[in-house]
Amino acid sequence: MLIGAHVSIQGGLHEGAVRAAASKCECFQIFSRNQRQWIAPPLTDEQIKSYRKAWTKNGRLPVLIHDSYLNNLSSPDDNLRAKSCNALAEELKRAEALGVRWVVIHPGSHRGAGEKAGLAHCAKSLKWIFKQTLRLKSGILLETTAGQGNGIGHKLEHLAFLLEHVRNAKRLAICADTCHLFAAGYDLKSKRGADAFWNEFDSLIGLARLKAFHMNDSIGELGSRLDRHAFIGEGQIGKTAFRRLLRDERFAKLPGIMEIPRWDDELTRTVADIKKLRGKI
Ligand SMILES: [Zn+2]
Ligand SMILES: [Zn+2]
Repeated sequence: MLIGAHVSIQGGLHEGAVRAAASKCECFQIFSRNQRQWIAPPLTDEQIKSYRKAWTKNGRLPVLIHDSYLNNLSSPDDNLRAKSCNALAEELKRAEALGVRWVVIHPGSHRGAGEKAGLAHCAKSLKWIFKQTLRLKSGILLETTAGQGNGIGHKLEHLAFLLEHVRNAKRLAICADTCHLFAAGYDLKSKRGADAFWNEFDSLIGLARLKAFHMNDSIGELGSRLDRHAFIGEGQIGKTAFRRLLRDERFAKLPGIMEIPRWDDELTRTVADIKKLRGKI
């Protein structure tokens, strides 16, 4: 697996690429905008140019964009859903302009309307978004979620349903978050549990549809449904399981993003530690 982290874009998008390279990341993730606001001003040519220049100069690392947490494609509220669809279509355009292939999203929350209704709304939203952005290459990674509250996406069956109904193999795939999977009840800690999980993943979704990892340990226990990240090896999943995953040849080319904020020099140390845990590739 390629080792990287979510990095800050303080100072501009291009600073994300600089920070990732300075910390010896092999891949990285950014927000493309202030993710706590609905309206994002469009990217200027200047921003796009300086980001692309920095990205090229700093090793052309694989990049993911994480979508805003405000978006909810599964909401029963028509207004909120329409707003979310528009915002995500814009995010795909931003990704395309920056040359980023994947935008990671959480499938959303059904807000009490039930899983079935939530999934139907989510599938419809995704179809609409792809139709609005037909010419783009940038696509969406559905992230596995922890199952907090009324969220959907914590069962592999949910993701399989969405992939099956949206039918866009080139632009829709999966990002596996290890903390969320564990909190949702998938035992990635034991070798037996992990083997069973990947078999189930392969039969319901297909390993070819897995394009990235969020590499977070979990503060909550197995099945706790708590979305609380810990550093690799410092949570309930533990070092042994992460070493196994980092060395798994099936995932050798996939980005593995740690999603915990650390200062730049601390991040450098953390990345070096995790590279040691993985060993040479
Ligand atoms: Zn995540
Ligand atoms: Zn999380």
